[in-house]
Amino acid sequence: MSTNQTDPLATPLLPDPLAFLDDEVAALRERHLYRALRVMSSGQGPIVSVDERRLISLSSNDYLGLTHHPRLREAALTAVRDFGVGSGAVRTIAGTMSMHEALEAELAEFKGTPAVLTFQSGFTANTGVIPTITGETDLIVSDSLNHASIIDGMRLSKAPRKIYPHADVEALRAVLDEAVRDGRPGSGEPYRLILVVTDGVFSMDGDIAPLPGIVEAAEAAGAAVFVDDAHASGVLGRDGRGTVDHFGLHRRVAIQVGTLSKAVGVQGGYVAGSVALREILTQRSRPFLFSTSHPPAVVAACREAIRVMVDEPELHARLWDNTRFFKAELARLGFDTGRSETPITPVMMGNPETAMRFSDRLMDEGVFAQPVVFPTVALDLARIRTIVTAAHAREQLDRALQAFSTVGRELGVIRG
Ligand code: PMP
Repeated sequence: MSTNQTDPLATPLLPDPLAFLDDEVAALRERHLYRALRVMSSGQGPIVSVDERRLISLSSNDYLGLTHHPRLREAALTAVRDFGVGSGAVRTIAGTMSMHEALEAELAEFKGTPAVLTFQSGFTANTGVIPTITGETDLIVSDSLNHASIIDGMRLSKAPRKIYPHADVEALRAVLDEAVRDGRPGSGEPYRLILVVTDGVFSMDGDIAPLPGIVEAAEAAGAAVFVDDAHASGVLGRDGRGTVDHFGLHRRVAIQVGTLSKAVGVQGGYVAGSVALREILTQRSRPFLFSTSHPPAVVAACREAIRVMVDEPELHARLWDNTRFFKAELARLGFDTGRSETPITPVMMGNPETAMRFSDRLMDEGVFAQPVVFPTVALDLARIRTIVTAAHAREQLDRALQAFSTVGRELGVIRG
């Protein structure tokens, strides 16, 4: 106990050097860009409790309903009993248990790649891989709508970068042609590595990257392809093996990043690729070297999730049944659902204020569907982003559609 008798709260305050933050928050509120955190008092699932209300949730990434699957719960509980709650160290010091290595071997087998390395999150996988394998003598070529974690990964890299317009394979080809023809600025030397980076499924629009065209363009330029399959993991391909499997491009995509935090239902990220890729990441990747590894419950639940994805294909089938139904019905009601091809269906609102009001009104009608506004998407492309899951019953989706219809008419987003 401190013997200091002065009351710290009684000390006269100096001017607060962080006072500008108040102004920034006020400005966000004024522009309808401030997002209050919605606090759930229930676990994840098709029905959640928010602000004392039971709501149909269309906002989680729990595509297969694995966040609350009995087999994953049991695996996590057993791991806690047997191994405790924390891993206690980073992987390179004392934080690699046999279960960490087993998860990686199982993921490699699932993905059909020589090796896998796990990270604490999908975000960390991107920021941990990109700057580790690229440097001044390389070029990164990135889709304009790639995820924030890819952008941050590129910012951490010393490699120059070029951005091509979203999903535009011809534009990508032109960027690659120029890079091969001109080489590195100044010297004209060829790049050591040209890395083409794309999301597999784009998280705000739900469209799938034109991977066959991207791979062909990259091969013609001697470039490597890096796919971030966060929203394709568990969703596309056989049993949810991702976009590379979906398009049959095995061995033609050098690096696949996946997340364990969405369809897999738990937490984490991984990179699937060559043995050498895994090895260099274990030696050099900063989040791997400097941040504690997954706790036992997380690893055990992830391992069980992969088994469930293979043992229970009906989850995947139900996810896609629900997706087709919900998308078709939203379109039939007259909503603009953009270019989505996956369970992510944006319902376009235009300005942020309408999106915020729409979401609030949906809550009154018993539906939890969050708005996505600037800076996540462009200012005039605010939307309600919906994701249906395998766990939704048809009757819940019907009720959600009814709510969309009511609010859509009321706010003039649809006519009729
Ligand atoms: N990449 C993409 C494309 C994503 O959508 C996300 C999650 N929003 C991530 C990476 C990060 O994954 P995680 O939540 O596992 O950090």
